[in-house]
Amino acid sequence: IASGQQPLGAVFIAADMNIMIAQVTSLRDRLILFGASTGLLIFVLSIFIARYITRPVNKLTQGVQEMTAGNYGAQVNIDSKDEFAALAFAFNEMSNKIAAEDQIRRQFVANASHELKSPLASMKALVEASLNGSLAEEEAKEVLGDINQEVDRLNKLVGDLLLLSRIENNKQEIRIQEVSVGELMYQLTHKLEPLARQKAISLKLVSDKELYWAMDGEMIFRAVFNLLDNAIKYSLPNTKIELGYESKGQKLSLWVEDQGIGINESDLKRIFERFYRQDKARSRETGGAGIGLAIVSEIVTLHGGQVTVKSEVGVGSKFNILLP
Ligand code: ADP
Repeated sequence: IASGQQPLGAVFIAADMNIMIAQVTSLRDRLILFGASTGLLIFVLSIFIARYITRPVNKLTQGVQEMTAGNYGAQVNIDSKDEFAALAFAFNEMSNKIAAEDQIRRQFVANASHELKSPLASMKALVEASLNGSLAEEEAKEVLGDINQEVDRLNKLVGDLLLLSRIENNKQEIRIQEVSVGELMYQLTHKLEPLARQKAISLKLVSDKELYWAMDGEMIFRAVFNLLDNAIKYSLPNTKIELGYESKGQKLSLWVEDQGIGINESDLKRIFERFYRQDKARSRETGGAGIGLAIVSEIVTLHGGQVTVKSEVGVGSKFNILLP
């Protein structure tokens, strides 16, 4: 203690070092404990996070493996609301789509084989009958006529299947040209008139004005032919069928309307599917394989158009093709 330059005295302070050392040691111990528990916590947390990330990935991997093994339609369940759940949702949708396509393909092969087998079986029976017995000339002619019909049926079916496959594989060229719609519809009516006459059905082409439209004339002919052919097949004798055309704004509308047996509401959605028939027994009698409307739909889609149908059982049906 000084007063100016003059020292007056001194203060002496002393403390026990052991207390300080104990405090430092305790602080160090706490720091070590804190560090160790933080390390442990991070370790445990990272295990959890790793699990959280890998579990959905594992589930997805399992799903992909199941699909690879041929179990189409395999589903992955992830109960969260993050990106993994979105991925699982997309995976499930893809899987369902592949399963549906696979089912259609199997069904198609089964139906096609069945349709090919039945004319072959009846031809075989006819040939066997002629081989076994000594048929009179008249009977032999009849059998040959029946075989001829079956060959025609097979020919048409195979031709239709080939066309469908060409369209599906994008191998079918379409040649768009200006076509006289009136001429096309007239030719069609002319071609099917004899078939209609056999059933005393009157065919009436209601539009007759000149109208030219850009389309593949041959293919549209085939599509409307199928509609008119059906209208005749599914109409009762002494009824009327009308067909017509008109331009509606930017679209061409072609329609065929009959007073035939009509189509159930439940069947309406499915008649454009391949091999789908409303009444299997009746269609077989009329020689249909259930492929005509599938062809119509493919041809119209190829043109960027739509085909629609309105029908009432016992009243009749109206098919309408709209072309851009
Ligand atoms: P099909 O060769 O059996 O006629 P389609 O594909 O042309 O095959 O038609 C599918 C089914 O739609 C037919 O079996 C028939 O049940 C129904 N159908 C099609 N057109 C008509 C129509 N004009 N009137 C009633 N039913 C129809």
